[in-house]
Amino acid sequence: MGRVDLHTHTTASDGLLTPAELIRLARERGLTALAITDHDTVSGLPEAVQAAGEAGVELIPGIEISTSYQGQDVHLLGYYVDYTSRKFVEELKGLKEGRHKRNERIIERLNELGIPISMEKVVAKRPAEGNVGRPHIAQVLVDMGVVASVQEAFDLYLGKNGKAYVSLPRLSPQEGVKLILRHGGIPVLAHPGLYGNDQLIGQLLAEGLEGIEVYHPDHSLAEVAKYERLAQEYQLLITGGSDYHGEGENGPFHGDLGSQPVGIEILDRLKALFRKKRV
Ligand code: AMP
Ligand code: FE
Ligand code: FE
Ligand code: ZN
Repeated sequence: MGRVDLHTHTTASDGLLTPAELIRLARERGLTALAITDHDTVSGLPEAVQAAGEAGVELIPGIEISTSYQGQDVHLLGYYVDYTSRKFVEELKGLKEGRHKRNERIIERLNELGIPISMEKVVAKRPAEGNVGRPHIAQVLVDMGVVASVQEAFDLYLGKNGKAYVSLPRLSPQEGVKLILRHGGIPVLAHPGLYGNDQLIGQLLAEGLEGIEVYHPDHSLAEVAKYERLAQEYQLLITGGSDYHGEGENGPFHGDLGSQPVGIEILDRLKALFRKKRV
């Protein structure tokens, strides 16, 4: 009876724990296996592989690709992507540049609103050399006393209805699926309950989508039931994970590690899909 968490973040993106710290916590929590799925980067995976070997926890190398569809952020999880591929890392570098431009625009907007935030302050806030994201900007706004919490930073400034929201062209979800497939991964639509567009699932199926994330801390029980049904209808793999980002002063960001566990049989199905690609 193993427990598996298929969605977590580290300091390689906007998580608070280093890959090695996260693996150690996974072992303490009694997880059999853990997927690390940082936003648009695989840079945490070599350290994670090493730590997982030492801790006796199985690591599923992964990524969470940021895409955009009709102004809505859509995330795609990619399991077993070839993180050692130089070509893949090169393509991810392009995404990093887009992210950097977007961050600069957000900071400009905040400056226009009279908030003296700078890229230096944001970069200094990162615990490691990982990808900079809105959560880092949010944390600086909290430190500056502009807002009381990260949540308020998103509600007032950084979220879709916020005053400093900037949406630059990103990959489309279709391109995200293809990027993952091109580099040997299994594409899974992350937290579909957040998008308000279930037609997307059918559209991505045509591109080669192989699963949907059904169990996620932001899904209601009704959404879980709906996506279980849709997964069966479309013959997609059902996955789940906590989206753990570490623990702040107000508790864990998103879910707590291991809080949305899936059984070992789901990992077995994921591996079977992976093996099928390699023959
Ligand atoms: P980015 O990748 O820089 O666009 O930032 C997206 C990340 O911000 C997500 O992966 C979440 O970790 C975080 N995030 C997005 N919306 C919210 C929100 N309303 N409250 C807290 N964190 C959020
Ligand atoms: Fe995040
Ligand atoms: Fe996500
Ligand atoms: Zn995530």
